[in-house]
Amino acid sequence: MVEMYLIRKDVVKRVVKFEGVLRADSPILVGTGERGPIKEVMKDLEGRPMIPGSSWKGVFRSSGERIARRKGLKVCSGLTNDNCLKNGGLDKVFLNSLRSDMDQAKRIAWNNTCINCKVFGTISILGQVRFLDSISQDFKLNTRAMTAISRKDGSVVGGALVTLEYADVGSRFPFTLFTYNLPNYALGYMILIMEEIHNHLVQVGGNKSRGFGFLSFEKLSMEVLSGDQSLPKLDEDDMEVKGSLDLRNLSGKEFFERAKPLMEAFRNVKISYPS
Ligand SMILES: [Zn+2]
Repeated sequence: MVEMYLIRKDVVKRVVKFEGVLRADSPILVGTGERGPIKEVMKDLEGRPMIPGSSWKGVFRSSGERIARRKGLKVCSGLTNDNCLKNGGLDKVFLNSLRSDMDQAKRIAWNNTCINCKVFGTISILGQVRFLDSISQDFKLNTRAMTAISRKDGSVVGGALVTLEYADVGSRFPFTLFTYNLPNYALGYMILIMEEIHNHLVQVGGNKSRGFGFLSFEKLSMEVLSGDQSLPKLDEDDMEVKGSLDLRNLSGKEFFERAKPLMEAFRNVKISYPS
């Protein structure tokens, strides 16, 4: 039986923090979601543009979905109507066992959810990652008038103009991700997702079809805040990583080069769930 640290909140075996700086390589528009003639960038109370932690979580989950499927893993999208517990017809049984039999609830969750449900959370289960809001201290805001294009068929909507506000190329966003009880392979999984962002395979925010949303890591660090620094196998499924992994204060390029053993752990792992 695999130790279920990856879903446990009551035992802290390992806390790993990723911290870095992202540079906008294209305009970035993470909007407020309000409709109207002006699409504004989400800002904090002092007017600084931000990428909220919830956006990061969505970007990581959807990018992770593609990476996990490429490896042949079964993953859900995490939506209300497509999540592992519901797809397995177990959502009600799980909720009942949460109230009556915690051990059974853990077994149900462990055996019947995918890596994304475990890492990012699902209905009634908290995830094992926490993304902080990325509030820029070094930015330039700009606007651009554009013709509104119908989402349905791509036609121009009556020649209407919308004004888009965006954080311009060169703006910098801090990035902080805390992870709890992630085995080596799951740390590798997070790094593979970050590498996809860095390599412009993933866009963040709106107006992707107009080439918005590309960022790269100017700096990136990984630090074990709690637990064994040498990153031993965390559970039965997990993989050993060879050599010492000093991943502090690196450029993005160096970081992804040196973090290869963790990415390999994800590529080579055979995980025992969902059973
Ligand atoms: Zn799932």
